[in-house]
Amino acid sequence: MTGQIYDENNIFAKILKGEIPAHKVYEDDDTLAFMDVMPQAPGHLLVIPKRGSRNLLDADPAVLSTLLPVVQKLAVAAKEAFEADGVFIAQFNEAAAGQTVFHLHFHVIPRHEGQALKPHTGKMEDGAVLAENARKIREAL
Ligand code: AMP
Repeated sequence: MTGQIYDENNIFAKILKGEIPAHKVYEDDDTLAFMDVMPQAPGHLLVIPKRGSRNLLDADPAVLSTLLPVVQKLAVAAKEAFEADGVFIAQFNEAAAGQTVFHLHFHVIPRHEGQALKPHTGKMEDGAVLAENARKIREAL
């Protein structure tokens, strides 16, 4: 089993500290949402709490109770912005389950009938496309 320690220097912690850029779609006192740089479908975004935890397993339930309504809000906005048929919500806990960034996050992915998802952590999307997709979701919020 790998270590269960929260690493303050993980890439999402760096986004929260403003040390690396992100295409932000939503922010409040407790939560940040931004575009996934390797989207599995157009509009794929991530919702993270500002308080650090590795994943769902070590998260404070109080954090989850503020986070999930934001996941819902963004799922509704992403569905509308991309005229999607549905929305896939994914969340991985530890490497064995597919987690690659060890700061709790929920994936919000608009889905269209008959369109397959691209691979998880596949191809890096063009920055201009991510910026435009972020704008569409912000507009739908
Ligand atoms: P997971 O495998 O659930 O830990 O997902 C981590 C996600 O973060 C993947 O879908 C990556 O494409 C995405 N990702 C990695 N680095 C960044 C970054 N700097 N900005 C936005 N998304 C990222």
